[in-house]
Formats: sequence, C-alpha cells, structure tokens
Amino acid sequence: MSNVLDQDIKFIPGVGPGRATLLENELNIRTLEDLITYYPFKYVDRTKIYTIKDIKDVSSHIQIKGHITGFKTVGEGAKTRLVAYFTDGKDIVDLIWFKKIKFVTKTLVKNREYIMFGKPSKFHDSYNFVHPELEDVDRKDMLKSGYLQAQYQTTDKMKKANLNSNAIHKIQFNAIQKAVEGVQETTPAWLRKKVGLVHLKEALTNIHFPTNEEALNQAQIRLKFEELFYIQLKLIHLRQDRQNKFNGHKIKGVGDIFNTFFHNNIPFELTGAQKRVLKEIFESMKSGKQMNRLLQGDVGSGKTMVALMAALMVVDNGYQGAIMAPTEILASQHLDSIVEMLHDIDIDVKLLTGSTKKKDREVIHRELEDGTLDIIIGTHAILEDKVKFKNLGLVVIDEQHRFGVMQRSKLWKKNYIPPHILVMTATPIPRTLAMTLYGDLDISVIDELPPGRKPIETRHYFYSKRNKVNSFIRAEIKKGRQAYIVYPLIEESDTLDYQSLYDGYKQMKEDFPNVNISMVHGKMKPQEKEEEMQRFKNHETDIMVATTVIEVGVNVPNASIMVIESSERFGLSQLHQLRGRVGRGAEQSYCILLSSTKLSETGRERIDTMVRTNDGFEIAESDLKLRGPGDLDGTQQSGVAMTLKIANISKDSQILSYSRDLAQKILDSDPELSHPLNDILKRQLAKLQKNYFKWGVIS
Ligand code: ADP
Ligand code: MG
Repeated sequence: MSNVLDQDIKFIPGVGPGRATLLENELNIRTLEDLITYYPFKYVDRTKIYTIKDIKDVSSHIQIKGHITGFKTVGEGAKTRLVAYFTDGKDIVDLIWFKKIKFVTKTLVKNREYIMFGKPSKFHDSYNFVHPELEDVDRKDMLKSGYLQAQYQTTDKMKKANLNSNAIHKIQFNAIQKAVEGVQETTPAWLRKKVGLVHLKEALTNIHFPTNEEALNQAQIRLKFEELFYIQLKLIHLRQDRQNKFNGHKIKGVGDIFNTFFHNNIPFELTGAQKRVLKEIFESMKSGKQMNRLLQGDVGSGKTMVALMAALMVVDNGYQGAIMAPTEILASQHLDSIVEMLHDIDIDVKLLTGSTKKKDREVIHRELEDGTLDIIIGTHAILEDKVKFKNLGLVVIDEQHRFGVMQRSKLWKKNYIPPHILVMTATPIPRTLAMTLYGDLDISVIDELPPGRKPIETRHYFYSKRNKVNSFIRAEIKKGRQAYIVYPLIEESDTLDYQSLYDGYKQMKEDFPNVNISMVHGKMKPQEKEEEMQRFKNHETDIMVATTVIEVGVNVPNASIMVIESSERFGLSQLHQLRGRVGRGAEQSYCILLSSTKLSETGRERIDTMVRTNDGFEIAESDLKLRGPGDLDGTQQSGVAMTLKIANISKDSQILSYSRDLAQKILDSDPELSHPLNDILKRQLAKLQKNYFKWGVIS
C-alpha cells in the first residue's frame, strides 16, 4: 500500500491527538492503514424499519422511523432521567436517558423525523428504549440508515472517553475517504480473476460500510483470502528458502548402536505409528537437507522413544544429539528414563539445566565441545551462547509449545550446518492451525497408542458430591493406587490461587487422616519440588496435591486417579494434558472433574467434551471452536493466529486450504517470484518478511 496509508491517524477528521494516543495505547492503531484494517467484528441489520407494533417479536437492536412528541424529566439528582415520547404515527414508546441529559435535550428536536435505533426492553405492558440513537432521516452520507451497520470492538478506556463503536464507525468513514485514493492493489489481477475477488478498494469500503449482504460477503472473502494466502506464501517460501540455503547433516544409515538398541533394549513392540514416524525422520535426515519436523502425538503415545531412537541414528553417524524439555523436572525425568532404556549401551548422556553445578557444567561444556558427550538432555540452559558443540546433528524439543521460532532459530546458529530439528508436542493441533503456525515445518503424527491401555473414564461432579468422590479415592488408595488432586493456577503470582491450593491441602489432610500427602507448586525451589515428586513416584505418598506444574510429562504409572478442582477454570487442552498423567499403568484410571454448579455455556461444553472423548485431536478441534485460536492452550505462539485481522482459522479452514494450495503452486512454478506477473506478490512478501519473526515470540 502507498504512503497515504502510513499517515498518522491524528490527521484524520474526528481523531485528533487525544484520540490518536488512546487508539494507539488501546488497540495499537497508529497509521491510516492500521485503522482501516481494524475490521468490524459484527454487523447490525439496519436495512429493515420496524413499527412499534412489531416490537414484541424482537429481542435485538432494531430501528423505527418516527418523531418525538414531547420530553419529561423524572426524579432528582443522581436519579434524574429524561423521558422522550416517540411515536411511529400509530403507537408510542418511551425513550430513556440516565446520562448526558443536557446534551440530548439540546440536540433532539420535537416533531422532527428520526430513525430511532436501540434495543427494546419490556416495562409492564409497554416497551421502552434506554439510550437509543437518533439520526435524521435525510442524512445523505454513508452513515445514513438503510444498510448493515458495522460494530467495532472497543475497550473500557475507549468507552469512557466516548470512543465507542459508533465513534469508530464515524472515524472509519473519514478514514476510508482518505485512504481509497491512495490504496494500491495488493493482489495481482490474474489472481483476483482466478479466485474471483473484488478489488481492494471496494473490499475496504464494503467491509466498513456494506450496503447489502452480498457486498459484505464479497469484501470478507477478498480480505480473508488475502490474509491467509500471504501467510501461506510466506511460510512455504521460508521453507523453500531454508531448504535451498541450508544443507543438513547427511545421516547415511542406521548403525550398530541403533540396531543393538532396537533388538536388545526395547521391552515392547514399537507401535505402527512409532515405526512410521521413525522412518519419516530417517528419510528426511538422510536427504542432505535440514529437517524441520513437528511431531504430534497424544499424551502417552510414546514420543520419548521416538526422540531417543532418532538421537541414536545421528550418534551412529558420528554426530551429537540434544533433547530439550521445558522444565527441569521433565528434563531429569527424561534423563532417568533414557539412561535406563540405554542400560548396556555404551554412549555418554548427561543432563544440563539451570541448576547444574558450576563444576559439572564446565565438564559438560568441555565434553560437548570436544565431542565426548553423545547426547545432552536439558532445559533452555542448552541454548546459552557458552554451550558449543563439536557437531550437533539433531535437536529434539519436547513439549514444543514452550519454545518459539526465535529459540528454534537460535539453535541453528550453533553450527555452520544447522542441526536437524524435531519438535514434539502432546497438544494436538488441528490441521488448519498447524498449517498456519507451523506451515514451514514438516508434520508427523503418532495417531496410535501403545496396545493394552484402558481408556480413562472421565466423570463430572458438582462440589455437593465431594464426599462421594472422597470415598471413591479412599477405596482406590486402599487397592494400592495413587491420586492427583490438581488446583487451577492462572498466574504464578496469583496468591489467591495458592490460597486455594493450601486450603485444599489442609482439607485433604482432614479428609484423609491416615494417608500420606505430597504437595508441589511452582513457587517451591526446584529441588524441593523434585523431592516431593520423587516421594510420590516412590509411593511414599498416596496423594499428590498440585498446581498445573505436573501438567507436562510427569510419569507415575501407579497413579490412576486425576481429580481436577475448579475444572471449569481450565482450558480444554490443559484438561486433556492433566488427564494424560493417569492411564499410564495397567490399572483402570479415572479422571474426575469437579466444578461449581455455576457453569458458563463454554465451561459446560468443555466438561462435556472431556467426558465424551479421550481423543486429543477431537478435543483440539473443539477447543479451537470454543475458544478461538488466540487462546488455545499450548499454542501461545499463536501470535500468528491472534495477528489475524479478519480470517478465523477455525471457521475459514476452506479458504485456508485453498490459499495454501495456490501459494504452493505459485512458488513451485516461480520460486523467487521473479516473473513480472508476480511483482505484487513479491512486494507483499517482502513486506511480510519484516514482520515475520514478531509472530514467533512467546513466553
Ligand atoms: P509421551 O508421548 O506422552 O511423551 P511417553 O514417551 O512418556 O509418552 O510414553 C508413555 C509410556 O509408554 C512410557 O512408559 C513408555 O515407556 C511407554 N511406551 C512407549 N512406546 C510404547 C510401546 N510401543 N508399547 C508399549 N509401551 C510403550
Ligand atoms: Mg513426553
């Protein structure tokens, strides 16, 4: 787009310096382009005029044509209200104002014809409208009645400053007038023709001021397509670029270590899915190109085994492997289980985390640099600049959602030839979201659980049934099982949440006097946490009271009950993750969701979904529908999804797939977009390039 669009919004009539600052602070709108791409979130139908007689059938905003026959002020002081009698010529309703009475009295004129717009509420036998809008019938601009009126999201601060949806709508009118002269088309004509898209100017005008459904529809399709298309073009181009620029370490074949491990060390048969994924990994590591692969697999699907075996492949070829986990607990758990699995095999594996002692750390650093250490397992500590490898061949990132693109790219810098990268996640991501977030990665899926697992039984109870739940837990403990009780923790600093955890712990102690109880939470020192976990793991305690710190990966096969307190406060994927902590042993496992009876509709829907299914992908789809992509657990880096201004990954999945295919075809035939017909695409891509890495930054 051209320079006009870079103009500061304060120069737009109706904005000015004060509102400009407010818009920037609240919505990050600074330029004319920011403003006109701040799209409405819904539309109110103002094409239909109602009569007062029709009101009884409606519950939403409507408009009525008529005039005011008189005013009356009722009450005193803070309780004063202004009543206007409004008639459509046949019947009469009351219009009521509690605020801005002076202003209303001054501006509204008796007997003048208005279009009155508002939401009716019933009062005894008649209806009234509180704080309606009145517009002159004969206003001749685009703000006049008789169309679909755009509604914009605003914040509390904006509303307080009278910068409400209507005010934005008026500002948009001026903004569009100014912008359309300068708007440059951002999609090539041939592509518009192929897809059947309206011109950008038309789309921008109609998205804010649609005269009818059809115009609005065309505008939406054009803008959504464009938004999704360019992201895909960007991601596919990035991947192509990386594959052309970066060679990868060539893993020629599997060797002795891998084979010995495969034949002697694995105590079970690999699942078909594990075998398939290992093959996919091997195929890309031997291609000579750098692998960038996302491995999705539900909790308990056996990703650690895949990670280890992939690492053994590179070790066999003389390279080093690194396995990264988001927390120290997880990293040391990986170390333990991997060392155990490797038992007789002679390779060096060590742990590097923030709490590794200085002396040990120095040794590790040295051994990584001279190549004696084959596999390093650890946390972010591996990413520190001081850590250098002799020849890092593969990095596995477990529970990938804690890491972003930035951190991934930091890893590449550790070698001249970047290591192969395998990111693993137990939070299944719906296909459409994966395409948007990780469109630059190859994707593998473990869609099969090891055999013999009994599906976890999930039940929902209100707090009134707590005694029943407690007796159930008691009975299971008697049989030798263990239980988790998890409390919500919205933010680590939220003292209220800790209070509920401590209260819960005290209550459990009272309810289970003869039972040993552990507690872990995020405020404990790592070592204390570790000790408590260990005690539970060793079955020195029967109940583990915890916050969500136990969410990721902790493995205690004997624990068969997961009780989730205030389950209505958790997101779906998080509930699913927590549930995945049980069902790891041979016993029937249970997940008990406790909640108050005050459930929101989505709260109820989430709990129902959990009770209905154990399938992580089904849950992820539900989650996406219920919460919208920006909020998905485990996809905090859905910065991308949140940056979407108009498209919706869940609802617009068809447009997404279509635009991805198109982008792929275009880049296949013109990888650098150097054909003159693709000039516009190239320009837009360069513009996106600037913003790309912002997307990947996460907590
Ligand atoms: P996740 O995918 O959640 O990381 P893990 O790798 O922790 O799952 O595996 C869960 C459990 O399943 C572990 O105890 C692991 O040893 C076991 N496991 C992995 N693969 C198989 C298999 N093919 N057959 C039986 N058990 C398996
Ligand atoms: Mg795991």
